[in-house]
Amino acid sequence: MSALILADALAGVAGPVLHPGDDGYAAELAGFDLAVPQHPAVVVGATGAADVVAGVRAARAAGLAVGVQATGHGITVPADDALLLTTRRAAGVRVDPVGRTAWIAAGAVWTSVLHEAAPYGLAPLAGSAPAVGAVSYTLGGGLGVLGRRYGWSADHVRRLDVVTADGELRVVTAESHPDLFWALRGGGGNVGVVTAMQVGLVELAELYGGGLFFPGEAAGDVLTALLAVAPQAPDEVSLSVALMTFPDLPVVPPALRGRFCAHVRVTSCGEPATCEDVIAPVRRAATPRLDTVRTMPVTAVGTIHNDPATPRATNSRSLVLHRLDAGTVEALVRHAGPRNAFVVELRFLGGALAREPAVPNAVGHRGGAATVYTAAYPHPTGPTEADAAAEQALLDELAPWSDGGALVNFLAGPRVRPADVRAGYEDDRWERLVEIKTAWDPDNVFRINHNVPPRSP
Ligand SMILES: Cc1cc2nc3c(=O)[nH]c(=O)nc-3n(C[C@H](O)[C@H](O)[C@H](O)COP(=O)(O)OP(=O)(O)OC[C@H]3O[C@@H](n4cnc5c(N)ncnc54)[C@H](O)[C@@H]3O)c2cc1C
Repeated sequence: MSALILADALAGVAGPVLHPGDDGYAAELAGFDLAVPQHPAVVVGATGAADVVAGVRAARAAGLAVGVQATGHGITVPADDALLLTTRRAAGVRVDPVGRTAWIAAGAVWTSVLHEAAPYGLAPLAGSAPAVGAVSYTLGGGLGVLGRRYGWSADHVRRLDVVTADGELRVVTAESHPDLFWALRGGGGNVGVVTAMQVGLVELAELYGGGLFFPGEAAGDVLTALLAVAPQAPDEVSLSVALMTFPDLPVVPPALRGRFCAHVRVTSCGEPATCEDVIAPVRRAATPRLDTVRTMPVTAVGTIHNDPATPRATNSRSLVLHRLDAGTVEALVRHAGPRNAFVVELRFLGGALAREPAVPNAVGHRGGAATVYTAAYPHPTGPTEADAAAEQALLDELAPWSDGGALVNFLAGPRVRPADVRAGYEDDRWERLVEIKTAWDPDNVFRINHNVPPRSP
């Protein structure tokens, strides 16, 4: 019966409509993260807003949940028995150089926005991996490499086009729907499917930055130096460090191949000399095996972190730290090492990230001093039980420096629990999200995500 309802409701869809067993079904589901196998009842390859409207209405009629997937970098809940909307065909980007904004369709990645904006000397607030979907990154807050200077990506949203659970396409702005506008900027896709968004761009053609790859044995000294300089750095300088073992592969520079390193990431949109003054004590902490800090076009921002680009199984955990001291360094060094098949990343927050934007939004934990992110890559098979236990031991040991908060964008993979998502928001933000969710999606049609469940009737 539900198959008939679906076939009827999806008859006008312009993109492919695929069921289990159809040619192309598995390929349509394929995304970056291989750790969450999915078995949707139907996949709709949306070409635009009309297909999304049809998909949401069809799912409602057939009693199915709705999932959305752009690149598959952030899969958390498998879209099993659901209607999955894939958005990669709707990947357009339009830049307005006069208004300094970009219009970004649901399936576009930051790489496209960077390249469309660069000819005008403009840039979006992309993150460490420009290959992620711009819309979903922004719905989850969006912690960019220039966050300390410009704030969260969600702070720069001007308008969202959204298909809500009733199957209506709505234009959402601060004036039209203040509640939806607040919840969508930081609260993820809980109240609708975003078909496109308009974001502000910043004037920026070049960056100064790159990586300082120190031997892992120097991790303690490097972290100590970073802790001394990063919190006091001017907002235009963002710093982070990853403790990781590089894979022993030909694509990896020989100096790093198979080696455990403290990879310091430097990003500045200010004067190179100022940035060098800030990082001088870090450079003095040890001799880097490789130094890629230089002036670069903003389109090369992805080379600063050099996140993996090929699909892999991953699982990401997140913990926001509220203070940092020598004990934090000891805990990190004790738990991160060549034996681990996961990366431990510490990104310093503060600056504009701590300030609520003119139109407040749902982004949680603005007051954090730093965020710890663990991820299974670069190991292609994903984390073992032992790795997961080691990750947990690290996070447990860091608990005294945290109030238990997490950043939702850094929670991905099969091990994300409802309590992790809850930890993404302070109590007042969570209550407001639940209220808005209950008003706009009381049946929790949009639950294939970092879910904020509605109140039960
Ligand atoms: C290597 C790597 C580096 C990263 N770096 C950063 C970083 O620097 N800063 C940061 O903030 N995050 C970062 N992330 C996290 C990333 O921003 C999130 O995982 C984001 O959700 C990925 O979006 P996607 O569209 O690429 O992934 P997808 O897996 O396609 O989407 C993730 C989820 O978003 C929701 N969603 C997707 N599209 C829509 C839509 N149109 N409407 C409503 N809901 C939607 C769905 O619930 C979906 O399950 C990184 C992730 C990886 C793997």
